[in-house]
Amino acid sequence: MTFQNLTATRLVTVLLISLIFSGSGITQTTEVDRLVGAMLGETPMLEDLQQLCDEIGGRPTGSEANLKSVDWALQKFEEAGVTARKESFTMPRFWLERSCEATVTGDVSFKPDVVTMTFSAATPEDGLTAPLVDGGMGTVQDFARLGSKARGAFVLIETQELVDVSGLFEEYANAAETEPRAFAAGAAGVVYMSSRAQGLLYRHNASKGPENEHPMLVMEREEAKRASRLLRAGKSLNLTAKIDIQSGGEYESYNVLGEIPGSEKPDEFVVVGAHLDSWGLGTGANDNGCNVVMMIDIARQMKRLGVRPKRTVRFALWNGEEQGLIGSWRYTQAHADELDGHIMACSVDIGSGRILGFFTNGREELIAPVNRALEPVKGLGPFEPINMPIVGTDNYDFMMQGIANLVANHDPYNYAPNYHAESDTYDKVDLRQLRLNAAIMAALTYGFANLEVTWKRQTRAEIQQLIDSTPLRQRMNMFNLYPAWADGSRGRSE
Ligand SMILES: [Zn+2]
Repeated sequence: MTFQNLTATRLVTVLLISLIFSGSGITQTTEVDRLVGAMLGETPMLEDLQQLCDEIGGRPTGSEANLKSVDWALQKFEEAGVTARKESFTMPRFWLERSCEATVTGDVSFKPDVVTMTFSAATPEDGLTAPLVDGGMGTVQDFARLGSKARGAFVLIETQELVDVSGLFEEYANAAETEPRAFAAGAAGVVYMSSRAQGLLYRHNASKGPENEHPMLVMEREEAKRASRLLRAGKSLNLTAKIDIQSGGEYESYNVLGEIPGSEKPDEFVVVGAHLDSWGLGTGANDNGCNVVMMIDIARQMKRLGVRPKRTVRFALWNGEEQGLIGSWRYTQAHADELDGHIMACSVDIGSGRILGFFTNGREELIAPVNRALEPVKGLGPFEPINMPIVGTDNYDFMMQGIANLVANHDPYNYAPNYHAESDTYDKVDLRQLRLNAAIMAALTYGFANLEVTWKRQTRAEIQQLIDSTPLRQRMNMFNLYPAWADGSRGRSE
């Protein structure tokens, strides 16, 4: 800890010196330099993170802890003197796991650790017993091989071990194809082999989201491998799953919005955000508490230094992200009248590894302004743009509304292995890098709140063109998002 602090202090000094001399003047520090310097210094950001992770803990939307985190975040903004409010919105379906266990019986008996996938169905109180069958990787050939054996069975699906973010997207993409196949074949439920070793469990949404109607489990990797070896050796196994779910219909949740009003163009908005909700396994540290406290801290330092950006900056702490990007979607509906004034929305949601650059999401015209905005922190780079649309975080509905949008791209070394898992806890956060990332995000935010805007909001036709000319459509399908765009119920309608 001491070592880390010493290193951080030295780094701050070096950076400050280099900022002063490499900034826009040799002797004069500009407003953005002061802001960046403040972000690199001692701020309450890490204490905030500890409170959010260790005291409030995992905070799935719909839980008591989540409501607590809303009040906590509001209070943090208010203590910093930043104008803030919570905005309520409707979540489509209430779902929380109460308990879940599974037993393998038959030729061999054992009791693997399991958790439910989100929106899993419950089982009868004394459990649901069905044959456990080997679904391979869940391909067309695998289900052809299984034939009628899939009917009424729990299908065990093998996974690759997860090492990076592209593996994560593959995991989602495979699930989106496997689950419809399994249920078309009449499976009773799907059991995924955990993609993380050492007994680590995690939770994603069932790929049909709130519309899923089947028991869906993740089984610890080692025991799932054991089961699949046994099945391949011709042994006969059954699985009894006992799943108890709290479930219900629509309910209210809240986004928290902190705001620094624009000095010249108060009706133009730059939205920078991170999601407040997490899953209940782990404490939502890298996903996404670290970037929540970053947002609060940038607002706090702007206020403290009296920074007055030309445009209004909204610091958005989204809710319902994990359950279908709901809070940010509802924001775009509730603020429909203001969307023409939204010049950029940025989501920070890939943990606390170094920010390597930004996804410009198919908007090439954003690369130059991003580079300009990052000029004051270029010593923390290099920064590489990736001009590909990313789906899976809160930029999505801004993209579908034609609003220029960015996602910070991080080194995922500590993010991917702990993603949605029990191990996503405070100790996994790269605290030193989080400060540097906060400085980068402060510069980006300040830059976009002040620079000249040379781009326009896209029309529905232009958004459709983006969908058709990039892998965007396939990525929308991974999260079951395309139908709502196609029928006009989500995204820009004209
Ligand atoms: Zn996240």
